[in-house]
Amino acid sequence: MDLSSLLKSTFGYSSFRPPQQEIIEHVISGKSAFVLMPTGGGKSLCYQIPALVRQGTAIVVSPLLALMRDQVQALCQNGVRAAELNSSLSLDQRKKVLHSLFSDQLDLLYVSPERLLSEGFLDLLSEKVNVALFAIDEAHCVSQWGHDFRPEYLKLSALRERFSSVPLIALTATADNPTRREIVEKLGIKDAATFCNGFDRPNISYRIVPKNSVKKQITDFISSEGKSEAGIIYCLSRATTEQLAEYLCDQGFKALPYHAGLPPRIRERNQKRFIEEEGIIIVATIAFGMGIDKPNVRFVIHANLPKNVESYYQETGRAGRDGLPAAAVLFYGLSDLVRLHRMIDEGEADENRKRIERLKLSSLVGLAETTRCRRQVLLEYFGEDYQIACMNCDTCLLPVEEWDASEAAQKALSAVYRTGQRFGQKHLIDILCGKVTEKITSFGHDNIPTFGVGSELSEKQWSSVFRQLVAGGFLRTDFENFGGLKFTPLSREVLQGKKPIFLRKDPALSAQKKQTRIEKKKKNILSMEGSSEELFQLLRSRRLELAKEFGVPPYVIFHDKTLVEIATKLPTSLSELADIQGIGESKLERYGQEIVSIVKDFKLLATLSS
Ligand code: ADP
Ligand code: ZN
Repeated sequence: MDLSSLLKSTFGYSSFRPPQQEIIEHVISGKSAFVLMPTGGGKSLCYQIPALVRQGTAIVVSPLLALMRDQVQALCQNGVRAAELNSSLSLDQRKKVLHSLFSDQLDLLYVSPERLLSEGFLDLLSEKVNVALFAIDEAHCVSQWGHDFRPEYLKLSALRERFSSVPLIALTATADNPTRREIVEKLGIKDAATFCNGFDRPNISYRIVPKNSVKKQITDFISSEGKSEAGIIYCLSRATTEQLAEYLCDQGFKALPYHAGLPPRIRERNQKRFIEEEGIIIVATIAFGMGIDKPNVRFVIHANLPKNVESYYQETGRAGRDGLPAAAVLFYGLSDLVRLHRMIDEGEADENRKRIERLKLSSLVGLAETTRCRRQVLLEYFGEDYQIACMNCDTCLLPVEEWDASEAAQKALSAVYRTGQRFGQKHLIDILCGKVTEKITSFGHDNIPTFGVGSELSEKQWSSVFRQLVAGGFLRTDFENFGGLKFTPLSREVLQGKKPIFLRKDPALSAQKKQTRIEKKKKNILSMEGSSEELFQLLRSRRLELAKEFGVPPYVIFHDKTLVEIATKLPTSLSELADIQGIGESKLERYGQEIVSIVKDFKLLATLSS
């Protein structure tokens, strides 16, 4: 059978995305591969199709149970013989799976690294199983340089040694150059061909916004753009996730907290609701997300700065896996920067690791403070050349102005210097703005020459100046002394007026304008142009019922994208329905008749009422 027919009949898609076919042919021919593709790029097919074509069973190593379950359920819906093997199964279930495995009845077996490498399992594999290929999903977990290191992944090097003639395919969505080198080396696949399809996620709109009243900023965003959509909000602390979730519920949103400190029962329930229901907002620490494959997450909000570009990219990458428009919004302020620096300084890591972490943090700050296209800066970080302005990030939609802040910087630094380099931003701003507070009079700071010299800027603008001076390395926070701001080797030149300073003008006043521009842009791309919203909602509610009936997440039955296409093309026969993306033979047989009658009824009602 040729590959395109297999793609259509099993998965319901009409064409491969680059470079899927190339990878698939490569692996089918028995060669190993290293695949770098952005989230939602379609990595799974790169091993699932070879698994169907090659003799025997493909062994897929996946780090998280939720992820495995999703994939297995989705494959079974498509009529593929797939199973999972991990600690969540009962003894009986495990026996059944092993029986199918040993009697050559499985095309794919998803397994946790612990299980795969457990005593004797590899022996059983080599004795009793015809292994078609090994696929290592989330392969960056093998890298210590990367950000998701999992020690058990290191032992996967054994696969190459023991099964040297079985092709191995390693896949990841995030890897900078050092991480890539480490993956190839640790998995022993130096001979593997690398396939890299770039990191761009064109459907994600990136926005990085200075934080003022973050709760309000978040609710404003959700009310205007994310209403009744599923989203994730990342917070730094467990307490904040609970407070914010409660606040959002009070405001009428369906929000649930998620963090490692919640009782497992509640944590699982919240995660399950997020996956299985529509329009749930999860407010989480970064403990949430790995292994969440929900394709129709419409927004990811960061209420705090993540710790590096990789984390930012990976966390925001959970939005819009289905390729439909999605938003990534980061709210960020000086306090985040201070906190992250402190976490590095006070962390357990050795000096070398800390140096790496500081460098990584400063790249992220560079992304936050840039006046260029965010996508350009983001992709450059991953070594990609992206020249055009993307027109789908905040700096493209509303170009940020720069202003000559040399004089303001001099004043700010002078305030730091004259107060002995030991006060925080709030006090320094009070001095610059000439506020008579108790603290100011008690230190006699109303008598220094800097007092009141900064009335031309608002407090907000001053806070923007301080944030950018710290971000640019012209000031640093002194943690040993209560977090006061201190000079760096770069400060003096600026203070003496020898180095001009240009800063971004935080779009405070123009926020309204920008919002409407982004709104407009968003409406353009999200619009289900020519499709019926009403029918879409009908299909969506039927999907939810089916999902409940079969005990699977709705997107395992149909993706939103498939429903939008049905609501646009209005297929009224099985053969018309078969042309829709995402409907293969198995789904056509299972749900085809019913979908067609929903569409027919809908059309009939529409003509009757017109
Ligand atoms: P990744 O693992 O790279 O994040 P997935 O393998 O989960 O991505 O694929 C993302 C989405 O794209 C899935 O919904 C998948 O069904 C869909 N997809 C993959 N390949 C194709 C294709 N050739 N045509 C249409 N949709 C595809
Ligand atoms: Zn852009």
